[in-house]
Amino acid sequence: MNIHEYQAKALFEKYGVPVPKGAPATTREEFITALAQLPEGPTMVKSQIHAGGRGKGTFTDGYKGGVKFCPTKAEAKEVAAKMLGNTLVTLQTGPAGRKVQTVYFTVASDIKKEYYLAILLDRATSRPVIVASTEGGVEIEKVAHETPEKITKVFVDPAYGLADYQVRQIIFSLGLTGAEAKNAAKLIRNLYQCFWATDASMVEINPLITTPTGDVLALDAKVSFDDNALFRHPDIVALRDLNEEDPKEIEASKHELNYIALDGNIACLVNGAGLAMSTMDIIKHFGGNPANFLDVGGGASREQVVAAFKIILGDPNVQGIFVNIFGGIMDCNVIAQGIVDAVKEVGLKLPLVVRLEGNNVVAGKKTLADSGLALVSGDSMADAAQKIVKLVA
Ligand code: GDP
Ligand code: MG
Repeated sequence: MNIHEYQAKALFEKYGVPVPKGAPATTREEFITALAQLPEGPTMVKSQIHAGGRGKGTFTDGYKGGVKFCPTKAEAKEVAAKMLGNTLVTLQTGPAGRKVQTVYFTVASDIKKEYYLAILLDRATSRPVIVASTEGGVEIEKVAHETPEKITKVFVDPAYGLADYQVRQIIFSLGLTGAEAKNAAKLIRNLYQCFWATDASMVEINPLITTPTGDVLALDAKVSFDDNALFRHPDIVALRDLNEEDPKEIEASKHELNYIALDGNIACLVNGAGLAMSTMDIIKHFGGNPANFLDVGGGASREQVVAAFKIILGDPNVQGIFVNIFGGIMDCNVIAQGIVDAVKEVGLKLPLVVRLEGNNVVAGKKTLADSGLALVSGDSMADAAQKIVKLVA
């Protein structure tokens, strides 16, 4: 789960990670009350969407910049009026962009230098890794690609926690000394605490800045949480913004289905994440494009299959459906009954190719045959994939 910058900064404050003073607003009326909380003077206006690259983004009406510096609060109010309700396109949003439903006003900071600092989970070592760079503000992927020596990585033993020598290692790699070093050390320790205590999968500060007065501040904040740990954090779940999520994915999560929308036209209904991945691969292999990833799980109920079918049919880009089931624990007949029920409810005007194999497959095939549904069966995964690609083309 992701949260907005203003929410991440509130969390940072709770853990003692310094951020510039700020206030969010969701309506024009709230601009006034939000700005009243800030001192008169240079103010930043920041579009709140779950995507980075906002500063260099452009709104669909041509207005440039989703993060803007304003010399006065009065100007900040005018700029915020242009952003609110407008759709921002950045390198991370895709061409459709994201509608800005919240703007965040912050006191504008004087920047001495910009740095990069993040903590994430490294899968290869199964440890938290702290990533730091003197090249802040820009895309870190570019730095990693072109000048990897400018990135320092420190792996933390989760049992021991972050050691003082590791904090010094990061400070040294950033070239910080004196008051800046002291402030940065405290910030790094507190950020690690925030990462650990909230079961975050990533906390990212880009840019982390030093100011002419020796302060070290998080100027931007991105935090993602491990969904599997959210049951421990009702206060974090409360920060979820459904406006930022695909309605089909929200519906899928209600039914405990693993669904991710993609931009192709062949909908997939599959059991098991591995099979779902190879189903997408084989569709691509035969020249088609998957419309989604959908794993109904190892022991889906008939109700879940019906819900899954409705979700994939709710995508207007879908021109054909490929059901690919290998029944291990999954009973093929449960899938077959789910498909029949779903089609009875919502109708079916699109080609449907079904490949069933494994546990109770004979009963499953009989259920489909007896239903009189116009479907095509595939003998193997390759055969079925070729058939659906052909039908959709
Ligand atoms: P992003 O574009 O989505 O990553 O949004 P950021 O919050 O990182 O802002 C983009 C850029 O705007 C930063 O890299 C800074 O260079 C600049 N910026 C953000 N806040 C301030 C500020 O308080 N003062 C100044 N001078 N620049 C800022
Ligand atoms: Mg940033």
